[in-house]
Amino acid sequence: MSVPFFDGRAHVQALRAELEEAVARVLDSGWFVLGPEGEAFEAELALALGAAHAVAVGNGTDALHLGLRALGIGPGHEVITSALSAAFTALAIEQAGARPVFVDVEEATLNLDPGAVRRAIGSRTRAILPVHLYGHPADMAPLLALADEHGLELLEDACQAHGALYQRRPVGTLRGARGIGALSFYPTKNLGALGDGGAVLVNDAGLAVRLRQLRNGGQSRKYCHQRFGVNSRLDELQAALLRVGVRHLAAWTERRRQLAAFYLRSLEGCGLTLPREQPYARAVFHLFVVRHPRRDALAQALREAGVPTLVHYPVPLHLQPAFAPLGGRAGDLPVAERAAGEVLSLPLYPELSDEQAAGVVQAVRDEAGRLC
Ligand SMILES: *Cc1c(COP(=O)(O)O)cnc(C)c1O
Repeated sequence: MSVPFFDGRAHVQALRAELEEAVARVLDSGWFVLGPEGEAFEAELALALGAAHAVAVGNGTDALHLGLRALGIGPGHEVITSALSAAFTALAIEQAGARPVFVDVEEATLNLDPGAVRRAIGSRTRAILPVHLYGHPADMAPLLALADEHGLELLEDACQAHGALYQRRPVGTLRGARGIGALSFYPTKNLGALGDGGAVLVNDAGLAVRLRQLRNGGQSRKYCHQRFGVNSRLDELQAALLRVGVRHLAAWTERRRQLAAFYLRSLEGCGLTLPREQPYARAVFHLFVVRHPRRDALAQALREAGVPTLVHYPVPLHLQPAFAPLGGRAGDLPVAERAAGEVLSLPLYPELSDEQAAGVVQAVRDEAGRLC
């Protein structure tokens, strides 16, 4: 049996006719940047994910970076975030000119630990940046309460969590009128472009206006540069392709959840820690991440059995060389550090067939059993 970790060809195959129609529409229009496809995509995305506005940008990192800047965060400010995330989360904070402060995660979800956030709040703290890691929402109620109590901004990194629900509400704009969150459309994400893309979900109309300026060189109208912006626009081709994806997102999420339920049922009792959904959450399983004390040996055995895996993430952010100047040391954030040595992502995506999923389960049961 051979199962790819991610199957871009199967993904396109299933949508081929719709994608070709979308591309043809853009080719026929002769208009390629900031046009009707982008506007329609933003409206459809905002509607699908329960936000008042969506502002499409070049990638998820820019969605985070410009989201922070729209909130007025920059030099001299600290942003508290999770030590277990894609490094791009923290790079976006650096790009905004602020300083990431990494804190530890909760054992159950590997998401930001509200107690650790509380202890990290200081005079320079301006924002909390929770990550809905692997598509499972962070425990937002205590984080929102902390932000309110201390007068902080809160920006959600929803780059892995398109359509996930926290207490029945979609992630991304959980802070109500001040809700703001970032999405990535990197090809492997739950809603993927055929290239790079991202968006900011935002409820406040003024913030949406500021974001539209920031992504387009800071222009308030043509050739009037109101502020320092960047060039980070989603092109019309990607917008047209992503409009196809928005139509399928709910069904893809259902399929991911069905596969996750199968894995959870079938991998019970073979020495793995499984990714359980918390009572407040409806997860979208961007990744299906198990834990095993002999992770590297298990990964090797699975590779030999034809099941590729990945590790999200092998090095917590406070121990990444790029962030060494911030002074993080081994032992500082024990939960994240232990998790980084044990997590293993199994193949899970909507195009994975029942037979392939059964093959993954068989291989994991065999190999994890052998390592007990
Ligand atoms: C993918 C991802 C990003 C960055 O998104 P890009 O589109 O690759 O720039 C940021 N944070 C998380 C948690 C991600 O998974």
